[in-house]
Amino acid sequence: MSNVSKKSETITRWKKCRDCGCRFKDSMTSFLGIFPVRISDFKTDNGQCPECRKKEQLRYEKLFFARDLHWTFESVKDYFTENPPYLDQELIVLDTSHRMNTYALVKVINPEHTKQKRIVIKGHSNGYSGMSFYRSGKNCFSPTGQVRLLPYHSKIGALIKEGKINEIQLSLEEIIILVGEVEQTTARGQASELNINPR
Ligand SMILES: [Zn+2]
Repeated sequence: MSNVSKKSETITRWKKCRDCGCRFKDSMTSFLGIFPVRISDFKTDNGQCPECRKKEQLRYEKLFFARDLHWTFESVKDYFTENPPYLDQELIVLDTSHRMNTYALVKVINPEHTKQKRIVIKGHSNGYSGMSFYRSGKNCFSPTGQVRLLPYHSKIGALIKEGKINEIQLSLEEIIILVGEVEQTTARGQASELNINPR
C-alpha cells in the first residue's frame, strides 16, 4: 500500500508567466512520494515560464561571472603561473561573505611562500580567512570559503584608490556596469587584457 503513494506522479497546471505574460503548462513530478514543492504552493496562477527561467539563470551566471571579474580558479592559476606574483604587487581580494561583494586592494608580502608557492598578502581579513592564498586564488585557511585572491583590475583598483579605505562594496548590478558582460568562453583573453598590473 505504501508503494502506491511512492509511485512517481506528475501534476500539471496552466499558469501565466510573471515575466513575459505568456500562458504555459507548468508541471512537477513527485519522487518517492514527495513533490519538490508543496502542492498548494504549486497550484498558483502565476509562475515563470521555462524560457524566462532560463533567461534569468543565464543573467545570474553572467552577473556572478562579472562579480568574479571574469576569473575562474583555473584561469587565476594560469595567470599566476604565467605572471609570477612579486613583492609589493597590488592584487584584489574578493570577499562575498555577509551577502556583500567587498573588493579589497591588497599587497603581496611574500610571493612564494613554501614549496606550494603560496601568495601571502596584507590588507584584508574578515576574521576567519587567512592572509595566505594558493595560486588559484583560493584561501589556504578557508579554501571553500567566500574569500578569494584575484589579479589586479584597473577599474576596480582605481575606484578603491579614490576612497579613504582600501576596500569597496559593490552590488552585482554596479559590478557588471564596471566590468562589462563577458561570455565565459571568451573570458580568458579578455580577462588577461583587463588585468595587466601596472608596474
Ligand atoms: Zn515567460
